[in-house]
Amino acid sequence: MFNKILIANRGEIACRIIKTARLMGIETVAVYSDADRHALHVQMADEAIHIGSSPSSESYLVIKKIIQAAIKTGAEAIHPGYGFLSENAEFCRQCAANSLVFIGPPVEAILAMGSKSAAKTIMADAGVPLVPGYHDDDQNPDIIKQAANKMGYPVLLKAAAGGGGKGMRAVHCEADFDEALDAAKREAMNGFNDDIMLVEKYLLKPRHVEIQVFCDSHKNAVYLFERDCSVQRRHQKVIEEAPAPNMTDALRKQMGAAALKAAKAINYEGAGTVEFLLDTKGEFFFMEMNTRLQVEHPVTEMISGQDLVEWQLRVAAGEPLPCSQDQLKINGHAFEARIYAEDPDHDFLPATGVLKCLQAPAENAHVRVDTGVVEGDEVSIYYDPMIAKLVVWDTDRDRALQRLTCALSEYRISGLTTNIGFLYNLAISQSFQHGDVDTRYIEEHEQEIFRQRDSDINYAAPLAAAAIVKLREQKAINTANSSSESNSPWHLSNSWGLPQPNIRLQIQQAVVESVVDSDINLEGINIAKTDAGFDLFTPQGFFHCAELQPDLGIDNEDSHGGNLNAPMNGTLVTLLVDVGAKVSKGDTLLVMEAMKMEHTIIAPSDGVVTEFYFQAGDLVDGGTELLVFEATSE
Ligand code: ADP
Repeated sequence: MFNKILIANRGEIACRIIKTARLMGIETVAVYSDADRHALHVQMADEAIHIGSSPSSESYLVIKKIIQAAIKTGAEAIHPGYGFLSENAEFCRQCAANSLVFIGPPVEAILAMGSKSAAKTIMADAGVPLVPGYHDDDQNPDIIKQAANKMGYPVLLKAAAGGGGKGMRAVHCEADFDEALDAAKREAMNGFNDDIMLVEKYLLKPRHVEIQVFCDSHKNAVYLFERDCSVQRRHQKVIEEAPAPNMTDALRKQMGAAALKAAKAINYEGAGTVEFLLDTKGEFFFMEMNTRLQVEHPVTEMISGQDLVEWQLRVAAGEPLPCSQDQLKINGHAFEARIYAEDPDHDFLPATGVLKCLQAPAENAHVRVDTGVVEGDEVSIYYDPMIAKLVVWDTDRDRALQRLTCALSEYRISGLTTNIGFLYNLAISQSFQHGDVDTRYIEEHEQEIFRQRDSDINYAAPLAAAAIVKLREQKAINTANSSSESNSPWHLSNSWGLPQPNIRLQIQQAVVESVVDSDINLEGINIAKTDAGFDLFTPQGFFHCAELQPDLGIDNEDSHGGNLNAPMNGTLVTLLVDVGAKVSKGDTLLVMEAMKMEHTIIAPSDGVVTEFYFQAGDLVDGGTELLVFEATSE
């Protein structure tokens, strides 16, 4: 076994690999860019080498620097993680040329699977079922179009060199074909510097089911069952699970055998994943093979009880596989949810910022959190904005799903937008609960997942109003700092004494006024304070909520002067009047933005603004005085 390995990666996967290496008594070397100087993986490793500036093209993707770091530190092998150089044949070659072991498959296997077209040819020859399509070398656009016409629409154009859902386009009729081909080629050229395209029959409601395979240098090969990764956005995985819901033993065996056939066809070694599309009739088709450890490998670890990084290290060191096929058994059910800094309400736009508060649910036999960041770290523009992978396990799917929703509702992140609420809504959605998933799941359940309907808002409003009164009583709301106490989950009790006035609220993107019903049941509801207000995790869904000040703006007919306060935490967008200038009652004095909505502060009467305390662009806390207003006496 190796004494020392270098990890050519960052973030959660670098940390994940270090953990196993440490358990095996192997020393670790981290590499890092400027932006990652203080990153968790650097702190966890025994040694760390700086390899360049923040853009990955100047650090994590520079083969020479990584090889040099390995030589300098005396590392014997390099683990590439996923992404970056993990499927780069040249990197694999350079490792060999410098007598370093590449912890991954032989270079020939990477090359064979590097092109989706070439891979399909190899798989067809090996008798692995393929998605019907055209994957020929002839790239004449007319020939490609003829092939598409022949297979019938819809078809899917794919970049042979593609990955991460890029360079892919569905075409629904012949008339759209030329334009789509041009666009897909441009995207592929930009993304992968290669515009070779293939065409596949676009399956309408397939599931993405992939098989984890493992092979060693002694011709042993096993599959560690399947993962269902059907729940996707823009062709990228969101929640993965193992085993696949409703999978039969017979189909599992067939798919496992096909995956092993694929691996053997290219003399595979190490960890690999064979991805299939599975249709409603139980027919499955090879899509591609990923020649590395996958992001979602933890669900396989949870149900198989195996440590796949340990397997990788053993195989790379020339040892045989730790288990035979007969020794591998599925135990229980696992889910993984990818916690991302991104904005699901704006087409999943990546978000950046400092993790002002980061509290993950407690880890135990049922909950595992793989992460590479700690509170106070920044999610920067340079790398993938994944914050963590939340992995849960239990004895069956229902129980595991219950663990997932519970753990999601306990996650506390502030400082940037995350997809936690979206994941929660997805996890509690009816069809997902029933395991009725396919790759169009998110699109087809948009309403249920995004919770913008009037009925949802009407359901949440009284809960939010009651929560506000409770939180007020607990003096927890509007606490300026995000101390651990104010972010801890509250299970609120149910009764209070005095009748309360109505509360003005923003829920998701709606502004509503709600009565405070003293009989409402808040049990089973989890509340998390956020920068802008609070998040409500209810049995019927997740809602962003914030209290709006009732005594401001147009709502306040009687106010004559005094100070005007921010309705909630947010950003000042513009000041609309000059200090000292006369304004009339109802004039807009300034505009704020909070929770993606604009809020105006309006002159309560005729008068003048004598001072603004903030400027456009400033962040202000809810309740903060924004300006001084003097009413004109009548
Ligand atoms: P990438 O390498 O960019 O991730 P894949 O070939 O793995 O691309 O496909 C990603 C996803 O796109 C799949 O998981 C599936 O949801 C969808 N997809 C790919 N091929 C097809 C197809 N022929 N029909 C329907 N959906 C497909």
